[in-house]
Amino acid sequence: MSKIEVAGATLQNFINGEWVDAYATESQPVVNPATEECLTNVPLSSDEDVDRAVQSSLSAFGEWKKTPVSKRARILFRYHQLLTDHHQFLAEMVSEENGKSYKEAYGEVLRGIECVEFATSAPTLMMGDNLSTIASDIDSEFFRYPIGVVAGIAPFNFPMMVPCWMFPIAIACGNTFLLKPSEKTPLLANKLVALLDEAGLPKGVLNVVHGTHEVVNRILDHPDIAAVSFVGSDPVAKYVYQNAASNGKRVQALAGAKNHHIVLPDCDQDRSIDHIINSAFGSAGQRCMACSAVIAVGDKADSFIAMLKKKADQIKIGNGMDEDVTVTPLISQESRNRALDYIDKGIAEGAQLIRDGRIDMETFNKGNFLGPTIFDYVTPDMSIAENELFAPILSVIRAADLKEAIDIINQSKFGNSATLYTNSASAVRTFREEAEPGMLGVNVGVPAPMAFFPFSGWKHSFYGDLHVNGKDGVEFYTRKKMITSRFY
Ligand code: NAD
Repeated sequence: MSKIEVAGATLQNFINGEWVDAYATESQPVVNPATEECLTNVPLSSDEDVDRAVQSSLSAFGEWKKTPVSKRARILFRYHQLLTDHHQFLAEMVSEENGKSYKEAYGEVLRGIECVEFATSAPTLMMGDNLSTIASDIDSEFFRYPIGVVAGIAPFNFPMMVPCWMFPIAIACGNTFLLKPSEKTPLLANKLVALLDEAGLPKGVLNVVHGTHEVVNRILDHPDIAAVSFVGSDPVAKYVYQNAASNGKRVQALAGAKNHHIVLPDCDQDRSIDHIINSAFGSAGQRCMACSAVIAVGDKADSFIAMLKKKADQIKIGNGMDEDVTVTPLISQESRNRALDYIDKGIAEGAQLIRDGRIDMETFNKGNFLGPTIFDYVTPDMSIAENELFAPILSVIRAADLKEAIDIINQSKFGNSATLYTNSASAVRTFREEAEPGMLGVNVGVPAPMAFFPFSGWKHSFYGDLHVNGKDGVEFYTRKKMITSRFY
C-alpha cells in the first residue's frame, strides 16, 4: 500500500485554497526510483494555470500583508506541530518518490521543520531600526514590508527541505507564495500545502502549480511576480537568474556543485572515511553538498584509499525503505545513463577505476541503481573532475600538500562546499582563509548550515546577492521603508 494519500491518478494544483485540475491536459508519470512503480501523474500546467495562481496570490496579498506578524507566526506554530505529528509519514513519502533512504528522508524532514521553526520568529526577524537626532530635532527609522507575490521553483533532490527554505519565511514576512515543485518529486508539496491549509492559512497565501519549464517560463515573465527563489542545476539557475532579473524581479538562484574533501595525513582516518562514504554515496550522491572528489594529501594516501575502497565494498545498496541502506537508486534512468557515460569517460581519460559500481547493478532487475564507484589518479582537468555528476561516483585526486589541494578546489567553477579532515589548527585556518567555496566543513562530511544561517554557495553555485535562510532570507523577502521626521 502506497503512502501517497494525496495523489489521484493525476495530481491537482492548489489554488486559492482549493484543489483544482490543471487547465493543461498533458501530464507525465511520477515514478518510484527503486521499484519503477508509477505513483501518480503530474500535470504539465500551462500559462493559464500560472496566471490563475498569481491572480489568487495577488488578491490574497492585500489582506495577508496587513495581518499582524504575530498572527502569521501563530499559523506557523500550528503548522510546525502538524509537521512534527506527521514526521514519519512525510519521511516515508520523500523516500518513496525520491528514492533516498528513510533515515536520510527523516533527517530531511527535520531540516524542513527547522525552517518553519525559524520562520516563527518573524516578529523579531522583521524588526526595523532607528536612530534619534540624525540632525537637530530629526529622527530616522526604517520598517520592513513584504515585497508581494513570490515564486519558488524547487529541484527533485530535497522535496521537503528546499521548499521549506522558501515559503515559510516568505509568508511569515507577509508575502504570498506560488510554489512550483519538481515534476520528479511533486507529491510531498501537496501534503505540505494540505497541512498548512489545516493549520489555518488563508486562501491564496500559498498556491501550488505543478509542471516543468513552461510553468517556470511564465513565472519569469509574469509582471505580478515580484521575486523568484530558485534551486536547481547550474545552466537552469543561470537562465532563471538572467531572465527573472531582466524582467525586474528580485532573484536568488542556487545552482550546482562540485565539492572536494581534503584529507591530511594527521586526520582521524577511520572517522574521516565514514564521513566521506556517507557524503559521497548517501542519497546516491544526489546532494548539492555531496563529496564528489577526495584530495588525498601526502604519504598516507595509499593506505587511506585502500581503506576507503574496503569500506565502500561493505555498504548496503537497495530500496530506501529497507533497513541500513546507504546507496539508494538514482532519480531516473536518464540520470543513471548519464552517470554510466561519465564512468566511460573517466576510463577513457586515464583515471583508474578502483571500484566499479556497475557490477552492483546486476543484483537489481528493477530501479535505477548504481553501486559506489571510485576512480583514483584523477586529475583536475578530467571531465569527471570538472563536472557535477550527481551520482555515487567519487574521484580521488592526489596532492603533495595543503596548498596544492586548496588550489585544486579553487580551480573549480563551482563554490558550494568543501571539507578538510585534520587535527591541525593552523591547517584549518589556512583552509578557512584560502578556500573559495561559501560553505566549509572541518571534519564534517555534509557541512550544511542550519536554518538560522545563510546557505551560502559562491561562484557558479549561486546567482544573486541574498542567500536562502538566516537573516539573508528575511532581507530577500522584505523591503525597507525609511522615514525621516522633524519634531518642532
Ligand atoms: P533542474 O535544474 O533539472 O530542475 C530544477 C527546477 O527547474 C525544476 O523545478 C525543473 O522543473 C525546472 N527546470 C528544469 N529544466 C528547466 C528548463 N530548461 N527551463 C526552465 N525550468 C527548468 O535540477 P534537478 O535535477 O531537479 O536538481 C538537481 C540540481 O539541483 C543539482 O545540480 C544540484 O546541485 C542542485 N541543487 C543545488 C542546491 C544548492 O543549494 N545549491 C540544493 C539542491 C539542489
